[in-house]
Amino acid sequence: SLRCGIVGLPNVGKSTLFNALSDAGADSANFPFCTIDPNIGVVPVPDERLDRLYDIVGSDEKIPTSVEFVDIAGLVKGASEGKGKGNAFLSHIREVDLIVHVVRCFDDENVVHVEGDVNPTRDVHIIEDELILKDLESVEKRLESLQKEAKSGEKETLKKLEIVEQLQEHLANGNAARTFDADEEEQKAYRELFLLSDKPVLYACNVSEDDINSGNEWVEEVQQIADRFDDEVVTFCAKIEEEIAELEEEEKQAFLEEMDVESGGLQRLIRAAYKELGLITYFTTGPKETRAWTVRRGAKAPEAAGVIHSDFEHGFIRAETVSFETYEELGSEKAVKNAGEMRQEGKDYVVQDGDVMLFRFNV
Ligand code: GDP
Repeated sequence: SLRCGIVGLPNVGKSTLFNALSDAGADSANFPFCTIDPNIGVVPVPDERLDRLYDIVGSDEKIPTSVEFVDIAGLVKGASEGKGKGNAFLSHIREVDLIVHVVRCFDDENVVHVEGDVNPTRDVHIIEDELILKDLESVEKRLESLQKEAKSGEKETLKKLEIVEQLQEHLANGNAARTFDADEEEQKAYRELFLLSDKPVLYACNVSEDDINSGNEWVEEVQQIADRFDDEVVTFCAKIEEEIAELEEEEKQAFLEEMDVESGGLQRLIRAAYKELGLITYFTTGPKETRAWTVRRGAKAPEAAGVIHSDFEHGFIRAETVSFETYEELGSEKAVKNAGEMRQEGKDYVVQDGDVMLFRFNV
């Protein structure tokens, strides 16, 4: 399953957020996963369409899809040189598919800020610079070996060398690898380095409870940083989310109303992460269960079937498919079929977000 790494300076609210996410996972009924590791939480992806479908069909069980979150503590200025937990911490980031960068956008004299005051632009750059410095190290090592190899004069190696040299300059100028202009073929020259600053980023602005609905100047600052590369920004209050996560379902709504906050900062964060990971959801439904499944955007029907079972992929014949919207509008599978809205899709069909599917396959 795909993994999001929560990073940020100390005391920005990473653990608080992680706890809220873990509680959300633990509370979810019929959730077929458990905690793997104290620092890894498997979190259900909230989806109103799944809830609707489950109600319409009246299945016994409702099973959401999930993403993993990892709490990666220990990044401080100088981490790339081994300060703090330094390198161990950075190697954890290498294993994630998405970086959730928590930025402190709340003022609280009781919570020490490691850099002295609240300043998102500075904080974001501290983290980003550490990732870039670490990448520069990896790239320089790669450059050394490529320079040796290039003595053979082989054209392909020379081309790689040229690209990696350009990348080195790009990083040395303080730019993240993901903003380096390279096509897919060129990326092969450095893809196996799994550069940290090449990973997609979602900024999570931790604001005080008073600013949840309105945001604040600090959030706007983060938004400007994110706009450079079209990254997503989500605003939430870690402290409130942690409190909400501990409540029973019925108490939650009352609490939100009392606090006069819009619900679901956590939900928005999970959904944004899911989107940034390039994932979409399709559904299967029947009397026993209604279930959400994850595929990467652009996946064809057999690959989607393979998410359920590899036999479904190998023996794939076709997929009976209808969009969630049509299913909801017509109200039942039978009505969908009677209206002639059930499509027979073959192996080249590109799965759409929200498809309700039934796979036909040979065993
Ligand atoms: P981490 O070091 O980034 O993991 O930060 P923690 O989650 O441990 O939070 C550090 C301190 O900030 C704790 O005392 C939290 O209770 C507090 N904190 C976290 N989120 C908020 C918030 O949204 N508002 C306020 N006022 N305090 C918070």
